[in-house]
Amino acid sequence: MENVLVVGAGMAGLQTVVGLRDQGYTGRITLLGAEEHKPYDRPPLSKEVLVGKTDDTSFDADWDALGVELLLGRTATALRLHDGAEGGEVDTDAGTIGFDRLVIATGSRVVNLPGADEVPGVHVLRTIDDARSLRAALVPDTHVVIVGAGWIGAEVATAAAALGCRTTVVEALHVPLAGAFPDEIGARFVPWYGETGVQLLLNARVDRLEPGAVHLTDGTRLPADVIVVGIGVTPETGWLADSGVDLDERGAVVVDDHLRTSATGVYAVGDCTVFQSPRYGTRMHVEHWDNALQAPRTVAANLMGGDAAYDPVPYFWSDQFGRMVQYVGHHTAGDELVVRGPGEDGKWTAGWFAGDALVALLSVARPRDLAQGRKLVQTGAAVDKAKFADIGVALKDA
Ligand code: FAD
Repeated sequence: MENVLVVGAGMAGLQTVVGLRDQGYTGRITLLGAEEHKPYDRPPLSKEVLVGKTDDTSFDADWDALGVELLLGRTATALRLHDGAEGGEVDTDAGTIGFDRLVIATGSRVVNLPGADEVPGVHVLRTIDDARSLRAALVPDTHVVIVGAGWIGAEVATAAAALGCRTTVVEALHVPLAGAFPDEIGARFVPWYGETGVQLLLNARVDRLEPGAVHLTDGTRLPADVIVVGIGVTPETGWLADSGVDLDERGAVVVDDHLRTSATGVYAVGDCTVFQSPRYGTRMHVEHWDNALQAPRTVAANLMGGDAAYDPVPYFWSDQFGRMVQYVGHHTAGDELVVRGPGEDGKWTAGWFAGDALVALLSVARPRDLAQGRKLVQTGAAVDKAKFADIGVALKDA
């Protein structure tokens, strides 16, 4: 292997480069990124950047030591694989790049409402440019309407409220985050909006957007100087169409537990993938930071001739309405939900059990529960549910 091409200069792409150099690879690496910016961190975009605490979230990488050919502002448009042999070419909007081995790390792109591109004042939030543009629009007393009470919607609402905007969140379902958690948990998020002065409209569907307003299907017209659409993301893999690399029905790159795609010598990491989990015996599509941090080490090891499986216990966090929300593990609809708390401080933790084993944990402003519970989730040890439910008992003793 002489020539590795990494397409996508986000967290997963950069970490692949770092992993290769850490593991002793001395050959050529090209890192191709569609954005003009050097790789940067996305979680602060909806947190510190929006409230003006920072303007630059670039990763602290030693580019000279990494010795990577960094091609920014250049977009991969197609992939051609050599017939019956490793290697191939990637077409870009500025010429073709050959490779021996390829790593696909093109992440996600936001889903927008139909026609939203033509309406002035509509924002999405995926890039640092999106964040800077939205921050400039979030001025006190502005009417801000956020479509979607998911992770991004809640964080943007937190920032908008803190900045003194008149903030409304429009959610099509009956509770926030209904796709991620059962209703009993989703209902616990509802008061957080009102407490910070944010109006949350549930079971509310957008009919159409116009400059200065959001119209709902029930006839309500919401004044909106600023509209933020936060209704989800989809894998950024259109450039792989007809390439021979298998995609699933959502367009995510299908990889095995070694993060190998269906094409020889082609790997994929991060948001754009659906990977086979040995631990859970299922395919997993994880659109969170920790996955983009951890998976590249496995790819780097396997590019170097290793035989490493990727077997994570998923983890993510969100900062919303002054609370650190953290989740670890993986639960399914059949798992038993046990909640500890809230205590007098309003903080609580939810656990999901398969039999006696704690399989997932959601902690709200209880980082100690998360740290101790994470070990229980990782080991699959039996946990006493009555002790778990008692907020006075430390989870390590449950
Ligand atoms: P990306 O970060 O999407 O990077 C992919 C890169 O590839 C992009 O720079 C893109 O421009 C480039 N690219 C795409 N297509 C092409 C192409 N054809 N050619 C060349 N380059 C291309 N996760 C958490 O766990 N906790 C959080 O609190 C949290 N907050 C978030 C807040 C925001 C605002 C956002 C947007 C995400 C947040 N996430 C959070 C999710 C986390 O940031 C992502 O899971 C992570 O960025 C995924 O990394 P990635 O490298 O796989 O993809």
